Amino acid sequence: MNQYLNYLGGEWKPARSGHWTENHNPARWDEVIGQFPKSGPEEVDEAVAAARMAFREWRLVPAPERGAIIKRAGDLMSERKEDLARDMTREMGKVLAETRGDVQEGIDTAYYAATEGRRLFGHTTPSELRNKMNLSFRMPIGVAGLITPWNFPMAIPCWKTLPALVCGNTVVLKPASDTPLTATHLVEILVEAGLPKGVINLVHGGGGAVGNRIVEHPDVALISFTGSSEIGKGINAKAGASLKRVSLELGGKNAMIVMYDADLDLALEGLLWGAFGTTGQRCTATSRCIVHADVYDRFTAMLVEATNALRVGDGLDPRTQVGPVVNRLQQETVESYVQIGKSEGATLLCGGYALKEGDHAAGWFYAPTVFGDVKPRMRIFQEEIFGPVLSVAKAKDFDEAVAMHNDCIYGLSSSIYTRDVNRAFQAVRDLEAGITYVNGATIGAECHMPFGGVKQTGNGHREGGWPVYEFFSELKTVYIDFSGRLQRAQIDNY
Ligand code: NAP
Repeated sequence: MNQYLNYLGGEWKPARSGHWTENHNPARWDEVIGQFPKSGPEEVDEAVAAARMAFREWRLVPAPERGAIIKRAGDLMSERKEDLARDMTREMGKVLAETRGDVQEGIDTAYYAATEGRRLFGHTTPSELRNKMNLSFRMPIGVAGLITPWNFPMAIPCWKTLPALVCGNTVVLKPASDTPLTATHLVEILVEAGLPKGVINLVHGGGGAVGNRIVEHPDVALISFTGSSEIGKGINAKAGASLKRVSLELGGKNAMIVMYDADLDLALEGLLWGAFGTTGQRCTATSRCIVHADVYDRFTAMLVEATNALRVGDGLDPRTQVGPVVNRLQQETVESYVQIGKSEGATLLCGGYALKEGDHAAGWFYAPTVFGDVKPRMRIFQEEIFGPVLSVAKAKDFDEAVAMHNDCIYGLSSSIYTRDVNRAFQAVRDLEAGITYVNGATIGAECHMPFGGVKQTGNGHREGGWPVYEFFSELKTVYIDFSGRLQRAQIDNY
């Protein structure tokens, strides 16, 4: 049995309690991938103390030099891409093409972060006084507590860790309990790339024991959390009590609008990818489709035929298009929402059952499911299911489609398929979401663009792109007076 460890202050260590948690393959649950330390608050305290100590020196390392280490980490990820992808598929189930994409996003993020080490722009502005200069610089903040979900086990830890480090912060990372292996690989790579002791720390363990302590620890200066809205709200309240800086990337209920003039084949391809890629377990998954009444019957018929043809299986099998859901709890959640959809009066068009026979017997598989005739207030149209369940609703025109889209507590990603350029721009303006795709699925973020949502999808911060460097740094404003006398702003210049 492989045993993996925490990484605390530059040393690989088990939990002090001596307890372990097993990590299983969701496609064949009897396969145990490894044992991971069941840590508690003591390990968090040790990690934070090490990160705090390391911050004293790391903050002084020139940002381009910090970036060079991150660049080496990107190179190592690139060399090991295939092994990393295979391990990721084994620990959380998504198909190899997608886990390769997940690692690639980590690599892209590393290369982008490395170049940011040579920018981290502040501002220069004119002073209102003579012989005086005004500048602002980006300064590191301190110990960053990073808490990540299981659905993008490499990309999301990279989105947070790499910008945090380039900005000069030190890190305590707590990955999801379902995906500790990929996070361990990431930390191994960062250590090999040359991060000094204590700059990166990894603590395995449950959200309650480990995550909670990170959020509450007085020496953790900022929290970056990606996960469910429910947990995110609790974290915001706790961290807010001590005025920690908090970035929250939370749930979604993303919709695609298919207009009467859309290229229906293209829209179908996008919808299958958006709804059933990662088995519907993406924060940006297309879980609602709003179809113009003129093409509703035709499009839903095409959709059902294509959905029934999807091949569900082990993500390591190259023929598989849809892998398992991550664990039994997730399968039960999906099943319960299917029952809710039926009881609410939606029409089950295909799927709607767990796959438990033959090749599917050993894992947590669920047939890709489509509900039709869904009404906007139904729970399956409002609540995040996080599984392979798509709800399709009919809209009489564009305005109704936009209203249905916006009648939702979440606002992460959105999409419209149309050939009408005016409609496309209206959608860009009116859809309440952090991201809008025109003639593309709701999924497909690129690491150099801001990523995040409005309403209950977050608290206004963005991951990816340049805004994440603003989150992980503090502005220092500097005035340099070289007049040789006291000059009083707002007084001496009038
Ligand atoms: P989750 O249950 O909220 O867990 C996320 C992370 O928080 C895990 O590491 C979890 O640890 C930890 N955690 C749990 N309870 C905690 C607590 N009380 N204090 C501190 N940390 C705690 O979410 P998930 O099931 O892993 O991921 C799915 C959710 O993430 C979905 O809602 C999805 O939409 C969202 N998501 C959002 C984005 C985005 O960018 N907006 C991206 C991806 C996913 P354990 O694993 O040990 O429980």
